[in-house]
Amino acid sequence: PAALSLSGIERTYMQGESALHVLRGIDLDLPAGEIVGLVGPSGAGKSTLLHVAGLLEHPDQGTVFVGGTDATQMDDGARTALRRRHIGFVYQFHHLLPEFTALENVVLPQLIAGLPRKEAESRAGELLGFLGLADRTVHRPGELSGGEQQRVAIARAVANAPRILLADEPTGNLDPDTAEHVFDILLRLVHGTGLAALIATHNLEFASRMDRRVTLKEGRLVEL
Ligand code: ADP
Ligand code: ADP
Repeated sequence: PAALSLSGIERTYMQGESALHVLRGIDLDLPAGEIVGLVGPSGAGKSTLLHVAGLLEHPDQGTVFVGGTDATQMDDGARTALRRRHIGFVYQFHHLLPEFTALENVVLPQLIAGLPRKEAESRAGELLGFLGLADRTVHRPGELSGGEQQRVAIARAVANAPRILLADEPTGNLDPDTAEHVFDILLRLVHGTGLAALIATHNLEFASRMDRRVTLKEGRLVEL
């Protein structure tokens, strides 16, 4: 089965008295190893789609399959466990824990997943090294540049070796050169690990380097 599969996803928000039908029947198959760019203007529903795909938000209708398992039928505990095991999420803002070092931020999700500290630290060190942060592991987020912070956030997202990586404008808060660098390293990481990835970006040049591009038009997913 696809790493991630969405079928008939509908999502409506109430804004006061009016209903905003943001997702109107989304179908998407994301096979292992494929990187899909999610492009489109602000307000199109990209974040909503990523949140539903990432099991952070419930669809009103439709099914989210993670590795062939229907996550929408699970209770909250099982769904959270499935998310932690199989899905990594990168946001526009890093959301790192400010009191913890870069290494500890990458270790923590692994400890929560039940890995022994020694193994977690070893994997965190390797990941940060791959992302060019070997000499920044003991720094706290406040002591890191924006690009470094975002690379730590990427390391954290893949710390538990998820099958699926979801990213919502992962370089949207960075200057163009830094964005380029972080995006390159993100693509290299994803290609090297065989992850399935869905990456929202405003940057069409970045999107052109992914395997496939989709956009949201009036709540429906259209291939570009
Ligand atoms: P994008 O990520 O493409 O900018 P979003 O998914 O964030 O789009 O938002 C799509 C639309 O849904 C926007 O009009 C936004 O204001 C609205 N929206 C998103 N989340 C909520 C929410 N929790 N409550 C009400 N409206 C929301
Ligand atoms: P993005 O830059 O990803 O499009 P937004 O600014 O649209 O982000 O949304 C940021 C967060 O706020 C998202 O989690 C989204 O679901 C939520 N949100 C967006 N619009 C609204 C809204 N009108 N009411 C409540 N929450 C919203």
